[in-house]
Amino acid sequence: MRDIAALKAALGDVPHDDDRALLRLKSRDFYWYSPILKQRLDGKAAELWAQPRSEEEVLRVLAAARAQGVPVTVRGGATGNYGQCVPLEGGVLLDMTAMTAPIALEDGVLEAEAGARLIDLDLWARERGFELRLWPSTKRSATIGGFVAGGGAGVGGIAHGTMRERGNLNGVRVATMQDPPAILDLSGDAANPVNRTYGTTGVITRVRIPLAPAQPWRDVGLAFPDFGAALRFAHALALADGVAKKMCAAFQPVFAPFFRGLAERVPQGRALVLAMVTSAGMIALRDMAREHGGALVAEQDTLAAERDPDATPFYEYCWNHTTLQVLKKDRGVTYLQCRFPFEGTVEAVEAATALFPDEVWMHAECVRFGGRLTMTALPVIRWRGAERLAEIMAGFEALGIGIANPHVFTIEEGSGYRRVPGDQLGFKRRTDPLGLLNPGKMRDFTPAEDDAA
Ligand SMILES: Cc1cc2nc3c(=O)[nH]c(=O)nc-3n(C[C@H](O)[C@H](O)[C@H](O)COP(=O)(O)OP(=O)(O)OC[C@H]3O[C@@H](n4cnc5c(N)ncnc54)[C@H](O)[C@@H]3O)c2cc1C
Repeated sequence: MRDIAALKAALGDVPHDDDRALLRLKSRDFYWYSPILKQRLDGKAAELWAQPRSEEEVLRVLAAARAQGVPVTVRGGATGNYGQCVPLEGGVLLDMTAMTAPIALEDGVLEAEAGARLIDLDLWARERGFELRLWPSTKRSATIGGFVAGGGAGVGGIAHGTMRERGNLNGVRVATMQDPPAILDLSGDAANPVNRTYGTTGVITRVRIPLAPAQPWRDVGLAFPDFGAALRFAHALALADGVAKKMCAAFQPVFAPFFRGLAERVPQGRALVLAMVTSAGMIALRDMAREHGGALVAEQDTLAAERDPDATPFYEYCWNHTTLQVLKKDRGVTYLQCRFPFEGTVEAVEAATALFPDEVWMHAECVRFGGRLTMTALPVIRWRGAERLAEIMAGFEALGIGIANPHVFTIEEGSGYRRVPGDQLGFKRRTDPLGLLNPGKMRDFTPAEDDAA
């Protein structure tokens, strides 16, 4: 029997609350994009919310929870899409958003507390001549700890790959659920076990990431006669090494009317490309657009847009923000996550687009994996039930397209590889032997007692 009252007493002056409305609110993320997850996760809630302000307070919460055998689920900005921060078995919701300090910037490496919002870190770095290499389209609300533990792809991926690419995560400090809880400092490959493991292997307290030199970014929107032309331009721009860019995505004509702020500027029936290039790249971009039959229809200063709460930086039409922009007007859709082959990428996107023309709306993002360019997509899917969704996934897979299923909440099922790497499982056995960290999310883990039985 869990003794939540004893746990509260052990927390002392660490801010905490057990108000039921607050707990319901804080125990949610954006899992509702998936009708399947909505059914499975609605109503799940923590029993106590705690908001540590320091590593010492994180350790105090973990020690108190461990003593009572109570699970702990970490929460950053709660912008995850698969119920990653939804506690499946109640317990403590550990809110990291009071730990927001940038700690140091040395030799182009930023160290910051894990609860810092990515936008704030980027602004702080910019004042010092640097910028973030990578961010999710939720940059304005997500935390750096949540991006490492729950996301890892997005803006900047066209140049730097994902957070899993060697060199994009220099290190972390992580609090364990050992007896007693301890702080580990992990560098390079040693940090892999906390990279996209949903807080199941430890609580990240600090993150160290390499930065890029700050650049003056421009958001650009270009209209093309059809999706094929838009895709070919996007791919060519991604390959144009002389043009520095942070993002490049192509959209079927169906999307532009959903993009408030852009809809009026894109002629009806035109496919769209949204890109982020440096000011210096604008000349080449215009020349390339002409060559591909495209016209520049929108342009703005990215940095000014992201600082203005009433404006929309163009990355907030891309990645999984595309789904959100559609959902704002049409709640009858959901989405998928696809990765196209390195060879024949554009043709593969076109083939997938042609497969389910009435149910799948395609947009594709240029991204690098292991130094090779390809496209990933989060197509918007008309929801016609779980069975039909499975048919669509099977149809894509038959074309050689990789699927990372966003309608499941375990790390294994959501991974394109359907497993967690051995070092992550082994690490969890060491740092969380009782399985109290976000239980139920790492499917293949069994607590130490079960092993002994
Ligand atoms: C509209 C929309 C667009 C999105 N676009 C992108 C995108 O472009 N790229 C992308 O990668 N993702 C994207 N996402 C998903 C999500 O926004 C990102 O992954 C984001 O980085 C998560 O950060 P967060 O602070 O909100 O984390 P949360 O949602 O709070 O947490 C995510 C996971 O990390 C764990 N966690 C959080 N903080 C810590 C910590 N300090 N230590 C250990 N574990 C922790 C949580 O337990 C949870 O399992 C999108 C989501 C939405 C709704």
